[in-house]
Amino acid sequence: MTVTDQVSHVFQVEVEKKLPMAVHGKGAYISIEDPSTGETKTYIDSSTGAAVGSLGHGDPEVIEEMCKAAKESVYSFPVTVCNYAAEDLAEFIIQESPKGAFASALFTGSGSESNENAMKIIRQYHNEKGDTKRVKFISRKQSYHGYTLGALSIGDNCRKEGFTEILLPQEITPKVSQVYAYRNTKEGETLEQYKDRLLQEVEETFIENGPETVAAFICETVGGSTYGNPLPIPGYLDGVRDICHKYGALFMLDEVMCGMGRCGTLHAWEQFITLADGSKGFVGPDIQTIGKTLGSGYVTIAGVLVSPKVKDVFVNGSGKILGAQTYHSHAFNCRVALAVQKKVSRDKLVQNIYNVGNYLGERLTELLTKTKIVGDVRGRGGFWSFEIVKDQKTKEPFPVELDVAHKIGNKIYEFGATNMAAQGTIDGVKGDHILFAPSFIITKELVDQVIEYVFRAVTEVEAELG
Ligand code: PLP
Repeated sequence: MTVTDQVSHVFQVEVEKKLPMAVHGKGAYISIEDPSTGETKTYIDSSTGAAVGSLGHGDPEVIEEMCKAAKESVYSFPVTVCNYAAEDLAEFIIQESPKGAFASALFTGSGSESNENAMKIIRQYHNEKGDTKRVKFISRKQSYHGYTLGALSIGDNCRKEGFTEILLPQEITPKVSQVYAYRNTKEGETLEQYKDRLLQEVEETFIENGPETVAAFICETVGGSTYGNPLPIPGYLDGVRDICHKYGALFMLDEVMCGMGRCGTLHAWEQFITLADGSKGFVGPDIQTIGKTLGSGYVTIAGVLVSPKVKDVFVNGSGKILGAQTYHSHAFNCRVALAVQKKVSRDKLVQNIYNVGNYLGERLTELLTKTKIVGDVRGRGGFWSFEIVKDQKTKEPFPVELDVAHKIGNKIYEFGATNMAAQGTIDGVKGDHILFAPSFIITKELVDQVIEYVFRAVTEVEAELG
């Protein structure tokens, strides 16, 4: 059966539309069948779906491990019987992380689910300490933490539309400004001053909401799904962490999209947070969520990483986590994810995506000077986007109706590379951007090919727009 003669039976985002069908993948390439013609074309997979790929498609070593795992893995209900695959995966991630960062890991089926679990762990952490008034989660405007109700509540984006009445009340999910240096620095303001202004807002939000009632501050280390890849300004994450600790709240990072190697270090925060300096001891996140590149799309797996500080409270408290799901720390999924992570580590693929990914960033930056409609290029490692503007000087975006992001994105796709084109809103400004997140095996030669498509697409759309 080809997609041309079938009705979609999958209840998907566009319920009745026949979507293109992924039919094959090899390394950094993906083959997709066109629903209108039934023809299959092979693309450079420069977005790996929604930034999922660490290894490429069809990796023979992972496939071999999947076959073995299918024969040898045994399902057990994680409340009463654990499995060695989950143990080994947790141990591996703890050991590969900066020393002392994490003491425990829980594995779930998706990033949204991990954020839900993390919110409950945070709430229970405070309860265990007898600090039961802490019910608020401060997060950021224009952020994305997943599609489930708790995750939507701490997020802030168009995906909430139609659901706001059934989300956690706004009083317990206050929001502060995003970090968005490109648009939100004031005239003459230095980055240092901008950072101080943002931190002042964070502290004021704690105070206004009653700092003794704040459970945690949650943010993406590097944003992804809402308006491209804004990097945290130097000192920002340190400052937020210190405010959290000053008021007894936990500091949580959501690295579902930007983590597990995506930005060129195992955890993105390693590049943006001051590491242990002797006087302060370890200064990373208290709790962190991961996903996507953990299983590289071979299995549905994500996770919650817990610092020693948080684990100790449970160990010295009730000794129990409240909440257990049927597929927590699933043996097959954990074993396959471990095979992915071991290969990523053995072949130094995180270093590769740091180097080749930053080369992609450099080449994208050339667009700024060679075209008239690219306003900003931002990202790190294998996580880059460029923002499209009508006027590079004033940063005025194109009218929303023109949907310039998809015009350019569709052309890049037509030429032969996948990408994520999107329109995001930040503080009332709706802007277009295109995001790239290739697998960590991408080469410079493939990056050059992608860039050629991007230049061509941007130049053509620029000409069409006059
Ligand atoms: N958190 C962040 C930062 C994400 O980017 C995403 C997905 O894009 C999620 C959470 C949700 O993950 P999932 O789609 O696996 O539920």
